[in-house]
Amino acid sequence: MNTEKSMTIWDKSDSSVLNTFCEDYRVFLSGHKTERENVSGMTELLRKAGAVSLSEVVSGEKRLQAGDLVYETMMKKSLVIFRIGKKSPLEGMRFLGAHIDSPRMDLKQHPLYENTDLALFETHYYGGIKKYQWVTLPLAMHGVAAKKDGSVVDICIGEDPSDPVVGVSDLLIHLAGRQMSKKVSEAVTGENLNILIGSRPLPDTEKNAVKENILAILKEKYDITEDDLVSAEIEVVPAGPARDYGLDRSMIMGYGQDDKVCAYTSFRAIMDIGTPELTSVCLLTDKEEIGSMGATGMHSRFYENTLAELLNVLGCYSELNLRRVLTSTKVLSSDVSAAFDPNYPDVMEKNNCAYLGRGPVFNKYTGSRGKSGSNDANAEYMAFLRRVMDDAGIIYQTSELGKVDEGGGGTIAYILANLGMEVIDFGVAVLNMHAPWEITSKADIYETYKAYQAFLMA
Ligand code: MN
Ligand code: MN
Repeated sequence: MNTEKSMTIWDKSDSSVLNTFCEDYRVFLSGHKTERENVSGMTELLRKAGAVSLSEVVSGEKRLQAGDLVYETMMKKSLVIFRIGKKSPLEGMRFLGAHIDSPRMDLKQHPLYENTDLALFETHYYGGIKKYQWVTLPLAMHGVAAKKDGSVVDICIGEDPSDPVVGVSDLLIHLAGRQMSKKVSEAVTGENLNILIGSRPLPDTEKNAVKENILAILKEKYDITEDDLVSAEIEVVPAGPARDYGLDRSMIMGYGQDDKVCAYTSFRAIMDIGTPELTSVCLLTDKEEIGSMGATGMHSRFYENTLAELLNVLGCYSELNLRRVLTSTKVLSSDVSAAFDPNYPDVMEKNNCAYLGRGPVFNKYTGSRGKSGSNDANAEYMAFLRRVMDDAGIIYQTSELGKVDEGGGGTIAYILANLGMEVIDFGVAVLNMHAPWEITSKADIYETYKAYQAFLMA
């Protein structure tokens, strides 16, 4: 029996305010499962709040003043938002960086085939998944098919309660003797992750009648052909909304909370603050789960290019000024941390790990083995943040990602640090990270939002 005094932060916030914030998050998370959906959904909220796009400012249509929100998107998959401060950008910026891609299965380029009167889609998994967790679940398909005429068709199947769902089958226990004796990592292979999508033949069809019927449905519903799937991006994700979790409704279970819980709280922080002293930035990036590469990932020049444009419209662009602003930017890499799991205590060192309900988490470093691949934040920066959080009455925790040599991981922190910024990882603790359904604490979500605001205003 655990008789330790509770160290949770539940008693410090007004529970109706906390619940309202978390319900807004739960609804947004349910309706925005992919990077594209996050960019379009957040852009819509930005427009409603009076934000302008940076291209509107560059073209001279709009002018910026302190307090204004201005944004830019990159290939519909990443988004940067600035809230203009009272002081010149040359005096420094405050930056929240989160990622809006999450582990999933992507359809292959030639996905559709028929086998024994069943139609299936081939997939290639994206990000780090335990493959056995993704079978026998109701799954939905989200994405786009781009056609040769330049039009792009939005696809979303499996989210409306009246929609069908799809899924990956698994071997029945009765015949799973050999499968069950394999290593867990080999029991379900990447090539096993085929999505069962149909079994009804198209009438009067000789060959591949079930596949032909699926193609007829795609043609009728979306006006796309089998060839159009070559230029499609369809992400297969758990179907259905995020839910309150626990008999006391203290937690949220949802797909993609790594890292959309930090993306949403960062987004809300910059939307809800007044006019900051220093210009605030919220960058929501793609491709973190596969190494941050590509034009929409954190390794790209997207942020530097956009910042150059911003400095230009603010009348202070030069190559030297751009470098100066980058090196005087302070960053919270808004990413999730692993929560202690009472079922698996052995992987954590209890003095240096994060617990659900005890507030947002600083990870001074991540990496593997001897901190390999990690941004290790400076002591002076950590001291600055202790002061900011204490002054704002924020309760936080510090953590490592598991015991020494137990495993490891990384975030976008080091990429921003390469630009000369002070950076530390700071976000919400998550249980079941990278599983189809991840768990967070509502108390942590709300406290993280308040902590991000305190940082932007510091
Ligand atoms: Mn993450
Ligand atoms: Mn991740």
